[in-house]
Amino acid sequence: MSEGLRVADVTFRYGAKTALEEVSFDIAPGRFAALLGPNGAGKSTLFGLLTRLFTTAEGRIEVAGHDIARAPRAALARMGVVFQSPTLDQDLTIRQNLGYFAALHGLSGAEARGRIDAALDRLAIAERAGERVRDLNGGHKRRTEIARALIHAPSVLLLDEATVGLDAASRQAITDHVHRLCAEDGLTVLWATHLTDEVRDSDRLVVLHRGRVLADGECGALRGDAPLKDYFLTATGAPA
Ligand code: ADP
Repeated sequence: MSEGLRVADVTFRYGAKTALEEVSFDIAPGRFAALLGPNGAGKSTLFGLLTRLFTTAEGRIEVAGHDIARAPRAALARMGVVFQSPTLDQDLTIRQNLGYFAALHGLSGAEARGRIDAALDRLAIAERAGERVRDLNGGHKRRTEIARALIHAPSVLLLDEATVGLDAASRQAITDHVHRLCAEDGLTVLWATHLTDEVRDSDRLVVLHRGRVLADGECGALRGDAPLKDYFLTATGAPA
């Protein structure tokens, strides 16, 4: 069974407004795919469908081989999600936040501790594990959210504008960490962003615009000699 992510012919409407129209792409296991689109492209709507906040009868979504409509529990169990809005408890420490999440997934004792230590290590925040989230800077808060999304050992990780509001150095550190999760742990990543400088030439790039997939391929091949910013502007008519 593939540990990747498959979106096939997905259409979604808010009443009369079509937000996604026959969106299809397939992300192979262990790949980093950037979902790039200007505001209003449909990224959040797609995330809502991937995480079952909404459902649609049109099209099919498979997470690690599980159809999200037919086997939602199995599909969601294989998925880690980092939402745009922070969802950590500010008054708990990093370790307590992760511990709480582990407990929600039925993990306890040595198993929970092992998963938590591995996730802290992955995101290079082990030495801060005892600090309250409230006292962390924005970059470390986001890293904690990513670490938490790994606790139940998902094979697919979804991140919705994970670097919003961070400075350049923190953004770079987070994109590096997430690339490493693909390369070293074989995680399949869907990284939604409207920022072209977060996408690397070797990344898979899916360009979403007005609810449709405008382009899909390796970033370097798609942009050719043009900077990605210019390619994106020409493709969508939207500045990035
Ligand atoms: P993005 O996340 O890429 O900015 P969205 O998924 O939020 O895009 O929006 C896609 C389209 O759907 C936009 O045209 C937006 O105006 C519309 N839309 C989003 N949410 C709603 C809603 N609750 N009701 C009606 N239209 C919506």
